Amino acid sequence: MIIDGKKIAEELRIKIKNDIEKIPGNSRPGLTVILIGDHPASQIYVRNKEKFAKEVGINSKVLKFDESITEQELKNEIENLNKDLNVHGILVQLPLPDHINQRDIIETIDPRKDVDGFHPINVGNLSSGNDAMVPCTPLGCYYLIKKVLSDLDGLNAVVIGRSNINGKPMTQLLLKENCTVTIVHSKTKKIDEICSNADLIIAAVGKAKMVKSSWVKQNAVVIDVGINRVQVDSKSKIIGDVDFDNVKEKTKGITPVPGGVGPMTIACLLENTLKAFYKISGNAPR
Ligand code: NAP
Repeated sequence: MIIDGKKIAEELRIKIKNDIEKIPGNSRPGLTVILIGDHPASQIYVRNKEKFAKEVGINSKVLKFDESITEQELKNEIENLNKDLNVHGILVQLPLPDHINQRDIIETIDPRKDVDGFHPINVGNLSSGNDAMVPCTPLGCYYLIKKVLSDLDGLNAVVIGRSNINGKPMTQLLLKENCTVTIVHSKTKKIDEICSNADLIIAAVGKAKMVKSSWVKQNAVVIDVGINRVQVDSKSKIIGDVDFDNVKEKTKGITPVPGGVGPMTIACLLENTLKAFYKISGNAPR
């Protein structure tokens, strides 16, 4: 089964739109994205975020700043957004210029408005099993997994990659679902053997076609987070961390790239913005 992230993300956006339409009065969730410089990939992501936010009824705004903005100026902007009652979600598009300390910037965001789920308070809450803003990509992976495996109790899961935005929060979500989780990284030995025992593999590495068919157990579920730009027949193409064509036949479910995890990331950002709105405004449905 190919897990159709595009369709599942669309269903999630429809649900969010319906929920927003049910909010009484004129108050609507507000999302502000801060974009610094002219990083081409960031420009595309931000444009898509804005488009889908508007589509579901979120008041979306992009604040653009030149690369020369100082750390203090950026912190002041975030403080203003923290105080703004019409802003429920704040997202600082990464990466930031080298002269700005990413950790300090993330810590300036009000944790309730931290729709990326990167603030240490949200990281701590997630790892303690408390209610938290969960980073959008692993949350999207989790929803995709649940479409194929409703009960994850006791499954062997392998997460490849230990980044703060993907691998680590993914691990926490799977632990919460009672998986036995192994997290592997660039220093891990015999990753192929470790993967070959997995019921569930989540690859978040950034290495094209790294996960081979021989690594994957029959009927495993494989979620591919990787986005790798490669040249095929002198054309630029995006492929994942999984050798999709050779792996797909063995799996119970697998996400394609593109069209798998990617669309879920933005849908989950919208969901986090609605969640922040409910929390801050006290306007949650009964
Ligand atoms: P990252 O911060 O670079 O982390 C990559 C992880 O992979 C690290 O933990 C690294 O190990 C590990 N790794 C590198 N080479 C390895 C190897 N040969 N064997 C095993 N592990 C290895 O990357 P990220 O931000 O998590 O992103 C991962 C991928 O997901 C990228 O392709 C990125 O573009 C994509 N992505 C997709 C979405 C989406 O919406 N679909 C969102 C975000 C990211 P060490 O820790 O030991 O260095």
